[in-house]
Amino acid sequence: MLLRRLAAAAIAVVALAGVQVAGATPAQAAPRVLYYDARQAQEFISVVNQGAQIWNSRATNVRLEPVTAGRTPNIRIYADNGWPRAQTTSLGNGRVWMGRQAVDQGYYPPRIAAHELGHILGLPDRRTGLCADLMSGSSAPVSCTNSYPNARELASVEANFRSSAAVAPQSYVWQPAPAGAAG
Ligand SMILES: [Zn+2]
Repeated sequence: MLLRRLAAAAIAVVALAGVQVAGATPAQAAPRVLYYDARQAQEFISVVNQGAQIWNSRATNVRLEPVTAGRTPNIRIYADNGWPRAQTTSLGNGRVWMGRQAVDQGYYPPRIAAHELGHILGLPDRRTGLCADLMSGSSAPVSCTNSYPNARELASVEANFRSSAAVAPQSYVWQPAPAGAAG
């Protein structure tokens, strides 16, 4: 009698599990789409697109798309002669400058673009000196061509967009001013 009840209970559990698997496809939320406007990025337009594609090839909770007509971009991207830098206003929103100063020094443009977009995606600078880290930025050797986030950086971005994390406005500069220097 007991055995029969246990068997019945086991069948019920299996049936329930089966219903759940069949009925509820895992709740895969649509990625949050961020629109970027690179039309003022001058000679860096294609490298900015490349940086966006790098993130799109890895992240599932967020997508970077070129802005379409009539839409307000989340991210505006410019080119100038200073250091590359990013100003974030909140998670997924802000401005990026593809500064020529780093390119002139030999830093790899796709890495710069993916790095600066990383700030918009909520990642701070971590100047580890390691080329494997995208957010090590200019602390990695100039010869570093790694333009992809490492697993920890990617996990952090995924978590940010899974929870719509609150990120305080921040400014980041590719090359920090030397200690004691003004500005
Ligand atoms: Zn940075």
